[in-house]
Amino acid sequence: MGVKNLAILGSTGSIGLSTLEVIAAHRERFKVKSLAAARSVEALAAQAALVQPELLAVLDAEAADKLKSLLPAGLKAKVVHGPQGYLEAAAGCGADMVVSAMVGAAGLLPTYAALKAGIDVALANKETLVAAGELVMAAAKESGAAIIPVDSEHSAIFQSLMGNPPEAVKRIWLTASGGPFRDHAPAQLAQVTPEMALDHPNWSMGPKITIDSATLMNKGLEVIEAHWLFGRGYDEITVVVHPQSVVHSLVEYVDGSFIAQLGQPDMKTPIAFALSYPQRLALDLPQLDLAQVASLTFTAPDLERFPALGLALAAGRAGGSAPAVLNAANEVAVGLFLHGKLGFTRIAACVQGVLEAHQTRPLNSVAAVLETDREARALARAWAEKQGEAA
Ligand code: MG
Repeated sequence: MGVKNLAILGSTGSIGLSTLEVIAAHRERFKVKSLAAARSVEALAAQAALVQPELLAVLDAEAADKLKSLLPAGLKAKVVHGPQGYLEAAAGCGADMVVSAMVGAAGLLPTYAALKAGIDVALANKETLVAAGELVMAAAKESGAAIIPVDSEHSAIFQSLMGNPPEAVKRIWLTASGGPFRDHAPAQLAQVTPEMALDHPNWSMGPKITIDSATLMNKGLEVIEAHWLFGRGYDEITVVVHPQSVVHSLVEYVDGSFIAQLGQPDMKTPIAFALSYPQRLALDLPQLDLAQVASLTFTAPDLERFPALGLALAAGRAGGSAPAVLNAANEVAVGLFLHGKLGFTRIAACVQGVLEAHQTRPLNSVAAVLETDREARALARAWAEKQGEAA
């Protein structure tokens, strides 16, 4: 296999760091063409010194100036910024594959541009599929670009589907850790602080997804993601809580067989698979010792204590603009929670309030998706202010 040229969007985040670790262990296989981040310019400059990309993209002119002052003298990387800069990082520097790992809705435009241009995408940014699944899948189909999931559950499903025809699939089983509060009573849930929620028992992830894991919104977003990635109806996708996070998801076949992918809860495994598919890269991970794990347990999720999951499933079934609204309202609500301005159980209440205020409509363009996203964010902020919970 030749050298694969990569664009890494969100290189200073949790997935970006793991991606660069995988690449560092297999330098002969990859060339990093571009790195994109928001404002973490110190980290970005250090990464640039290591991987010598041709292009660096950041959020705004201020971050770009700061980055330039930090770059080592010998490095000839072009520095760009803003939405146009992100587009150039994704689709304008000769990448064979874009690692889409920017947080939230910001990743949509560059990911869409890459797919339109026929560039394969290793997709970690699930919000892209949640908000614009129909458009994104259509763009990939038209250009022939592949979308390889990086999300651990979807990587597990992707791997468990390999070698089997679609008509042999009966059901997708999406596993959820259940988050740190899976056994909390409703009164305890209301008392959860950002510090408590940021301490995930199994996975080390960025703050937004860690909170989403604790509310189970993350699993709801993942059901929508699975719906688009694997072309399955919502009745064919079942969520099951599996606190050990060893079985990363399963596919049930018409003959009664279940095929699963198991592994350490380490994002480097699905990242490496997405980068090297259909081959596999050796990784130096701690051994998964099944005898030490001893027992794997599975339970149905509790939609009463974790209403975010039910809201996401309903928005997925409603289709059109509903998932984009759910996603945007959730991003705002999680931000308010992290800043101590909204209670933990009020995150789902805010999302529900915004969904109820929104009239679901079809989304026929990325511009319409972004407009819906802005509207839903404004609705979420207004909702929180009305509740007297936002400053
Ligand atoms: Mg996941």
